[in-house]
This record gives sequence, C-alpha cells and structure tokens, in this order.
Amino acid sequence: MVESTNPSSASEPSRLSRSALLGWPEPCADMLAAIGGTPLIRLRRASEATGCAILGKAEFMNPGGSVKDRAALAIIEAAEAEGRLEPGSASGGTIVEGTAGNTGIGLTLVANARGYRSVIVMPETQSQEKIDFLRMIGADLRLVPAKPFRDPGNYVHVSRRLAEETGAVWANQFDNLANREGHRHGTAAEIWHQTGGALDAFTCSCGTGGTLAGASLGLHERAARDGRPAPRIVLADPEGSGLYGWVKSNDLSISGSSITEGIGQSRVPGNLEGVTIDDAVRIGDPEALEQVFDLLQFEGLSIGGSAGINVAAAIRVARALGPGHTVVTILCDSGARYQSKLFNPGFLREKGLPVPGWLA
Ligand code: PMP
Repeated sequence: MVESTNPSSASEPSRLSRSALLGWPEPCADMLAAIGGTPLIRLRRASEATGCAILGKAEFMNPGGSVKDRAALAIIEAAEAEGRLEPGSASGGTIVEGTAGNTGIGLTLVANARGYRSVIVMPETQSQEKIDFLRMIGADLRLVPAKPFRDPGNYVHVSRRLAEETGAVWANQFDNLANREGHRHGTAAEIWHQTGGALDAFTCSCGTGGTLAGASLGLHERAARDGRPAPRIVLADPEGSGLYGWVKSNDLSISGSSITEGIGQSRVPGNLEGVTIDDAVRIGDPEALEQVFDLLQFEGLSIGGSAGINVAAAIRVARALGPGHTVVTILCDSGARYQSKLFNPGFLREKGLPVPGWLA
C-alpha cells in the first residue's frame, strides 16, 4: 500500500489550495515543527516542454528559507539524543559549523529556538544576502578566505578546529549521517506521499550530499516496501565539481567553474557513501540561469542558482526518459538570497552570463 491519502496524483496535481489539501492543519508546536512539509509544485513550462510531470519541492518555504533547515534540525536533534547538546540547560551549548550559508542560517535559527549558541564559519565569497541574514539572526559569524579543501585554511577545517579548541559541538554536515537521515525520514517520505509513489526519477545537486543520499535511501526503501519500481536517482552537478566524473567514471577531477553556491564538491562526502546514484548530468550556469529567469517570469517562482541547476537537470532527465514520466527535484532556496549576483546585470555581464530581459 502506498501511504498517500493525497487526492492529487503526480501527473495531475490538484488545484486545491495548500491549506485545503492539508485540511487546515492544527498550529505547529513551535518553529521547529514548521520545518519540512513543503509543497511539491508542478513546473508548468518544464512539464509542457518534455511531456512529463516535472515537480519541484519548494524548500525555499522552510522557516530559514532553504532545504538546509532540515539538516540543521536533524543534526541538532541527533546531538541532543547523544547527550552532546542539552536543551534548556543553564549553560546551553554551542554548535559550530562551516557552511556556504544556508546550513548556518538553519543551525542558528534552530539553536535560537533550543537555547544554544551558534558559531558559523563561512567563505567570504558567498552572497552578501546570506552574510547579512546570518548577522541579522544573531550568528557569531567568522568569514574566512575561500580555500580548497586540501588547504588547512578551508572553512570546513577552520570550523572543526574551532569546535575542538572550544569544546563545542561540531555539526560536521558533510560526514555526519544525521544529515541524510533527516532527508530520508523527511524529504523522501514527503515526496513518496505527495506523488503516491508514482515517480520515475529524482534529481538534485550535492553540497554535502545529504539531500540526494537521503532521497535515494528513503525512496528506495519505500519502493521496496510498496512493491513498486525504485525511481532513477540522478546527480545534477555544476561546472567546477568533481562529482559528475565520480559518478560517471570514478574520476573526481575538476574543470570549469560556476557562480552557484552551496553545491559542487572536490571529494566524496560521507553522506554520499554507499548510496545508489544511477546517473549524473552536468549543467552549466547559462542553462541553470535560463530556468531561474523563466520560472520567475512565467510561473512566479523565485529560485536560487542550485535550484536552477536542479530544474535544468530534471528537464534533461525527463527528455531522456521520454513523455509520460514523473521527475521530482528540489527548489533549494529562493532568488532573493542571490539578488546581488543572479539579478545583478553588471555581475552577470562581467561573467558573460545572460541578463533577465526585465533588468537589461
Ligand atoms: N542548494 C543550496 C542553495 C545549498 O545551500 C545547499 C547546501 N549547501 C545545497 C543546494 C545542497 O544540499 P546538500 O548539502 O543536502 O547536498
């Protein structure tokens, strides 16, 4: 049995409002209970262009504005379960993390709600919007120069050392499997429920790999339980990342670069280990931006660069499968988080990238 009671099917999503579908839910106990449970939105033009149902999980609707609220909550709850953080204790506790920004935002908000301090280490190259937002919500923000992972000055290593030196909890989102577990029990369960188990493929990009790995594990588990074929799991990778080559030919070498933030890797994070990934597609920035601008202009959906990569990948996957299939992807965060880059004609022209018509 599929666990769905949702009146919509994957190919014909309901026109009922979200509230009507949810049956006017009871108030959430707190902000934490409002994380997850995001809508799965049919992307009209992508669906029409491919003859498939292309569905985007609206993760920008989480309280912190991104998919990373889920990982932040899962990591903090796991640390509490292990007794490394104690909610409500007089001294509280401190959680330290290296992040491209969104995990830092999620961790800081969850920490605020649970009575902890957060220390966030972030490369200074990330968007001003994320930096400003982290400061606004009270994160103890440490900006560091962007360095490759092999350099001890890389933000991940700086955050690990800071936690070691101060006795704080290190979130370690790349290798901490609580991250993918949060997606396995949350994101994957929701997608299965929202599609009635009728999805042919899932695709998304990887930063830590928590989303892709958790989706792969959770969707496979549910397909086996319900006696349905498992969806095809496809990595979407930007230029400048080694993961495409790793999936295709076990080769992590890197070429090119991308203006997208929060995705792409030069190593295989612990969260991706032992997980089924059937294929990979590589998406360049112009192809991703086309989707970012198109969705905003014609469907009123504001998404960030990694979501643009994901939607472009979903279109490629749908084309390869042929008409009549259902492809699910992740709308990781919103365009507002990158206004000064993705919607800045000067920045885009300097990078040789397309400028949206209404800003040109
Ligand atoms: N998109 C954005 C905007 C992100 O911040 C991140 C996380 N760094 C991702 C995608 C990737 O998610 P994950 O870490 O689960 O692979």
